[in-house]
Amino acid sequence: MKITGFTAWLVEADPGPKFIWRNGLPGSHGDIPRGSKPRKAVIRMETDSGLTGAIEIGRGDAVVDMVRRRYSGFIGENPLMTERMWHLMWEIDRVEEVHMRSLGLLDQLCWDVKSQAAKMPIYQMLGGNDPKVPAYASTVTWPTLGEYERYIKMSRDLGFKAFKLHAWGDVKRDIDLSTKLREWVGPDADLMFDGSAGWDYVDSLEVGLALQDLGFLWYEEPMREFYLGSYTKLCEKLTIPVLAAETSDGVHWNMASLDRKPGVGHDAGIHFLQGWLYRIDENCPYGRQFWHAGAGAWHGARKCPIVCRHRQ
Ligand SMILES: [Mg+2]
Repeated sequence: MKITGFTAWLVEADPGPKFIWRNGLPGSHGDIPRGSKPRKAVIRMETDSGLTGAIEIGRGDAVVDMVRRRYSGFIGENPLMTERMWHLMWEIDRVEEVHMRSLGLLDQLCWDVKSQAAKMPIYQMLGGNDPKVPAYASTVTWPTLGEYERYIKMSRDLGFKAFKLHAWGDVKRDIDLSTKLREWVGPDADLMFDGSAGWDYVDSLEVGLALQDLGFLWYEEPMREFYLGSYTKLCEKLTIPVLAAETSDGVHWNMASLDRKPGVGHDAGIHFLQGWLYRIDENCPYGRQFWHAGAGAWHGARKCPIVCRHRQ
């Protein structure tokens, strides 16, 4: 099989709900200029077999730019050779420092075609295990304690038994919120805390000690993931598992470095951040899952206003 071309559409997207993150981080609409809409990219990879791979993804302008400048180099390659395709892209990353949203696109397009050629869903091609996975309710950042209480209890009443906080990034308030969360949902609920890289080592340790006293299941990304030495020190001081490598550049090699730190687990996969199709965390019951923007993606996106179309 050979890749014969790519078509990329830049389309206007629904901005989605407006929400905030911790202190200092831009909120969900922070990248939408006044009076405009966000743009996403829809990419279709064509092959001489008639099979096509498709994906849609946000930050569309940058994605279309990558397709325009680099994807012609993949025409003629065999999309079923997914390892080779990934490494071709990885070599481009050496000169481009590709945005992580773009790094895994080709991989996902190829696996989409490979899955169709094999007439087998990707989860079976990767092995397949439990048909059910537990799910947790994850918060955005709410301005007040009262709003956290309202939405946590709403999630609990819907049947969730596990909850993850994205809090304010304020040590004292966040510990207080975590304490309240334990009171709201009882001793048996699985609780997680995501720091969104807001702290240094000292603050991370203070919050981590509080979380492990409250019986939290994991402590996610308290610091930027460049602070490998600080992650090592933190894990030596804590017994609660620390999750990292959600945003680390270098994907599985970098994750492997983090995994070698005692106590550091890696984050469950986010297909647009982790640079390849699948991430499976064998240590985490909530991590045995993967995302796949599948073959139907671009059909839905065709309803969106088209800003531009690029073909090669
Ligand atoms: Mg996270």
